[in-house]
Amino acid sequence: MNTYRGKRIVVLGGAGFVGSHLCDRLLAADAESVTAVDNLCTGDVRNLTILQRDARFDFLQHDICQPIPIRGPVDFVFNLASPASPVDYAALWLETMRTGSEGTLRGLELAEQKKAIFLQASTSEIYGDPLVHPQPESYSGNVDPTRPRSVYDEAKRYGEALVSGFRRSRGVSTRIVRIFNTYGPRMRLDDGRVVPAFVGQALRGEDFTIFGDGKQTRSFCYVDDMVEGIVKLGASDVSDPVNLGNPDERTMVEFAEAVKAAVGGGGQLVFKPLPEGDPKQRRPDITKAKTLLGWEPKVTLAEGLAKTIAFFRTRV
Ligand code: NAD
Repeated sequence: MNTYRGKRIVVLGGAGFVGSHLCDRLLAADAESVTAVDNLCTGDVRNLTILQRDARFDFLQHDICQPIPIRGPVDFVFNLASPASPVDYAALWLETMRTGSEGTLRGLELAEQKKAIFLQASTSEIYGDPLVHPQPESYSGNVDPTRPRSVYDEAKRYGEALVSGFRRSRGVSTRIVRIFNTYGPRMRLDDGRVVPAFVGQALRGEDFTIFGDGKQTRSFCYVDDMVEGIVKLGASDVSDPVNLGNPDERTMVEFAEAVKAAVGGGGQLVFKPLPEGDPKQRRPDITKAKTLLGWEPKVTLAEGLAKTIAFFRTRV
């Protein structure tokens, strides 16, 4: 069954990396209309170029901390609006907190008013520097409320609490996805995240910058897999948080070597001090997503990197 056929859908943060791919996917699922709402603080209208040729698609440049002016019925509100990389939220500290709190509130009010299903994009960052590995949804995290990353972590934790509050007290039908590191075309080369950083360095023939000893791990999920999981969660009736991510865990050194091999270029690995609060390990426990949604990632790191590198070659 295609839950999204004939539905009117609002994607907050729809000009961003994941949000724009989600808009593509919802239109491909025969949605009646998809409206991307975005203030472009970290997003890019170029992500919407193809979509804007589709009469069912609409773009509204708007800050979601203000009431969201959508006319007519709405069936789904997907909230992906938030600066999402450490570079971005370090430049937009207070905006990140406002978007996670007031922006999420405005999105929930829209969903309540329209009797729409609300899906919140949360993050693995809510687990902080985890003491449990891999991280199941039942783990409540190891977060310091004043470290530099806290503007993002705590905004996202508050967002989950707000969403849960609207579900319990206002009867809004809600979903929460805890997104783990995701990569793919339409990331920005300068957003400071590991994939664009390594690929950019490899394409420019520069050395790879590794923070710390390079033994810290991450797991990377290709964006098509992530969007498929989000779409499945939206179509389910699962209101508790669900982790989505790829459990294929690599050290930073292994990952730099994989990028080097895929690009066929790049310099030496150069080690620099680890930024404060950088988590040592991250890997999603996706048992819940597998059991409840029948979802698991399919795209291998080699396949995903090849598509991502092809995109970045057009941007270097
Ligand atoms: P992104 O920066 O590309 O997209 C976020 C979008 O939200 C941008 O287009 C930005 O302009 C918009 N935005 C921010 N504040 C806004 C506001 N006040 N009003 C309107 N628009 C606003 O980041 P992304 O990687 O696509 O992340 C999308 C969502 O997924 C975010 O909520 C992020 O926290 C979450 N997430 C992403 C990852 C990942 O690895 N990409 C991991 C965990 C969680």
